[in-house]
Amino acid sequence: MNKTLFLILALLLIIVPACTTAPRDKGDIGQRNIQAVATIGMIADIVREVGGDRVEVTALMGPGVDPHLYKASEGDVILLQQADIIFYNGLHLEAQMGEVLERMNENGMVTVAISEQIDPSLLSPSPTYEGYYDPHIWFDVTLWMKAVEQVRDSLIILDPTHAETYQANADAYLVELVELHKYVNIQAERIPAEQRVLITAHDAFHYFGKAYGFEVRGLQGISTETQAGTADVQALTDFIVERQIPAIFVESSVAERNIEAVQAAVQARGFDVTIGGSLFSDAMGSEGTPEGTYIGMVRHNIDTIVRALLGD
Ligand SMILES: [Zn+2]
Repeated sequence: MNKTLFLILALLLIIVPACTTAPRDKGDIGQRNIQAVATIGMIADIVREVGGDRVEVTALMGPGVDPHLYKASEGDVILLQQADIIFYNGLHLEAQMGEVLERMNENGMVTVAISEQIDPSLLSPSPTYEGYYDPHIWFDVTLWMKAVEQVRDSLIILDPTHAETYQANADAYLVELVELHKYVNIQAERIPAEQRVLITAHDAFHYFGKAYGFEVRGLQGISTETQAGTADVQALTDFIVERQIPAIFVESSVAERNIEAVQAAVQARGFDVTIGGSLFSDAMGSEGTPEGTYIGMVRHNIDTIVRALLGD
């Protein structure tokens, strides 16, 4: 075959599936691997754990990526169209992807919001947007366990032939998460109750605070879409000086300069607050590192918080 013709054919093979809007045929799903796409890394991690060898999962957002601001690229849209199942957080976490996800749903794709079946009584209201819930549910391990159940149930519906596998994988992972929840509680209790104050770059830690007994303050709102102003820096500075808070935290997916501005403002008032480290809030760490998994990320966060607030 001549080279040009080969190139044209190869291109067509790439382009044609992207143009089709019909969802992938699922008739043979029990005989082949499932192609899953997840928005954030933490959800991809659940799908990897529960899906095991049966499921190949791609996360659209890697380490350090902010889901509040993330817009789907053309490549993402192709990946989404070719998937057997799409998992996202919901509760408006992926604010800029709402339209794309809706379009996938209208086209008959299987789209699953992992927060969908959580009893609203367990959800916290958004402190920034009236009438909405706080989307950062992974900070309470017991809530995230419900997301695991949602992934398990969705995979069983999609691929009932392998229901037992998904059930067993989910059971094993849930046991690990029960242990993780205990670990966070034990570590949190090392800090005297009145010193359990967590100050971070954006207001993501309310579920964490509620579950593990911390008072939380974020410089930016619940979504990084709203910018922190001088009034916010001033209010947080007053709070830190007044309460003699020893450490504040940056986040891996939010620019550090805002928290550094708070630190400078506090120091100008003659009080010293340290930056206690970087927390993984809305994205996990690099693949292949302990923090590149949900369990590793949660352990890193609580260890960093305890070390800094106890001044170890
Ligand atoms: Zn967030």
